[in-house]
Amino acid sequence: MSEEHVAHESLAARASQPIRVGVLGFGGLGQAAARVLAPKQEMIWVAAADQKGFAYDPSGLNPDACIQTYHAHGSLGYLEGLGVLSDNGIQDLIEKGDAVEGYFLALPNLPNDFIASVVRQFMAAGWKGVLVDAIKRTSAVEQLLAMKEELQAAGITYMAGCGATPGLLTAAAALAAQSYAEVHSVKITFGVGIANWEAYRATVREDIGHLPGYTVEQARAMTDAEVEALLDKTNGILTLENMEHADDVMLELAGICSRDRVTVGGVVDTRNPKKPLSTNVQITGRTFEGKISTHTFTLGDETSMAANVCGPAFGYLKTGVGLQRRGLTGLFTAAEVMPHFVR
Ligand code: NAD
Repeated sequence: MSEEHVAHESLAARASQPIRVGVLGFGGLGQAAARVLAPKQEMIWVAAADQKGFAYDPSGLNPDACIQTYHAHGSLGYLEGLGVLSDNGIQDLIEKGDAVEGYFLALPNLPNDFIASVVRQFMAAGWKGVLVDAIKRTSAVEQLLAMKEELQAAGITYMAGCGATPGLLTAAAALAAQSYAEVHSVKITFGVGIANWEAYRATVREDIGHLPGYTVEQARAMTDAEVEALLDKTNGILTLENMEHADDVMLELAGICSRDRVTVGGVVDTRNPKKPLSTNVQITGRTFEGKISTHTFTLGDETSMAANVCGPAFGYLKTGVGLQRRGLTGLFTAAEVMPHFVR
């Protein structure tokens, strides 16, 4: 049998296997990711790392056992039989988790170049595969865009901005734009309801970094008591306007409109799982006949932030694996390719 034939057969064998995925960060989104993957046939969750350790089992991790362990002890490193305590969980997992084809980076981007530094770790280790983030800030996506050629050379297929916003709503805007000859504005308004802020500490801290008078660094440095004191003053509500959100650079890069036509804002209720308003994106433009119109895509109020972030993240991971298997590496954004549905 020729070498080419053997390579072709192993590719075909791989394609029929579930995709082995890992999750970096095991807070609110990381845990939701484990639950989202549990009923899937096309993906199997085999690895996760948090700040104090990691767990890896190429035949699959048990979400309940992992979540219970994390809640009881604060790290997956305590998982019986499989957990490893480590201050360098990500690095250790990159080295040990050789079966992992793709990772969802459910990590805080604090400081604002943290995710970019994690990506450098993957490249330095010679790891090849798919990485997906749900990163939010324009400046954070720009750091990754600058690494496009290095990622390509490293054999990594990187899917950027693949949560809800940026992510699902950006992709919806890209699709809606097809009706128009010119896109005048893309307006994203999100409503998030969570029962308590501790379940999504990084998300809440990063949102505080968008409030007038706050920076990412200030939000990062706030103690939990300071975050609570701020939320007490606002009755648990964060109102965000004109946010620095990467939907703008992603839509500009996809050729849909210039970034100044994209606005993002929203309301986060940190004390009530009910959404304070319906998340939506409005795409206004001019058709070829000269008519001005607006398409609106509204998410169902019953869908949680976790559902609208983790679903797209794994949809884009599946797309990324398809690109990677065809030899396409480098960086892609959620506005550039469609997420594939994970069965
Ligand atoms: P969280 O605070 O609940 O959890 C963070 C996890 O990361 C924890 O398990 C922590 O131990 C781990 N971690 C921190 N530093 C680490 C390190 N050095 N090595 C390994 N693990 C480390 O976070 P969250 O609220 O789930 O948010 C995760 C990210 O998702 C945030 O950056 C947030 O902005 C983003 N997010 C994006 C969207 C979107 O629509 N694009 C929506 C919500 C959240």
